[in-house]
Amino acid sequence: MTPGISSYETTQEGPGFVGIQFCQECNNMLYPKEDKENKVLLYACRNCDYQQVADNNCIYVNKITHEVDELTQIVSDVIHDPTLPRTEDHPCPRCGHREGVFFQAQSRRAEDEMRLYYVCTNPNCTHRWTE
Ligand SMILES: [Zn+2]
Ligand SMILES: [Zn+2]
Repeated sequence: MTPGISSYETTQEGPGFVGIQFCQECNNMLYPKEDKENKVLLYACRNCDYQQVADNNCIYVNKITHEVDELTQIVSDVIHDPTLPRTEDHPCPRCGHREGVFFQAQSRRAEDEMRLYYVCTNPNCTHRWTE
């Protein structure tokens, strides 16, 4: 027995390990699932009713990144679109320009349906923001 092997095995089970979780009931893979009522992330089994609270929030980090991407995907050309409504009630938070165009998110996610996006009509700014 060499001491080298046992110390190698200990590092494999370190507390920082994050990997695929398995169901304690039926040993199938657990899938991340959002508990909207309690606003927590769960891992749920698709084979039985077993679920557990996730001990890390990696999924939520991904979600925030996705929302930022939606804003950057708005092209600055929308400020020249005559069909879009304009508002003078929402000055640009970056340059203070008084006029902006606004429109509703074209997201497929239900919770974003009512969200309004604003784009500053100052051609040197075209800052995008959302409420
Ligand atoms: Zn299961
Ligand atoms: Zn601006």
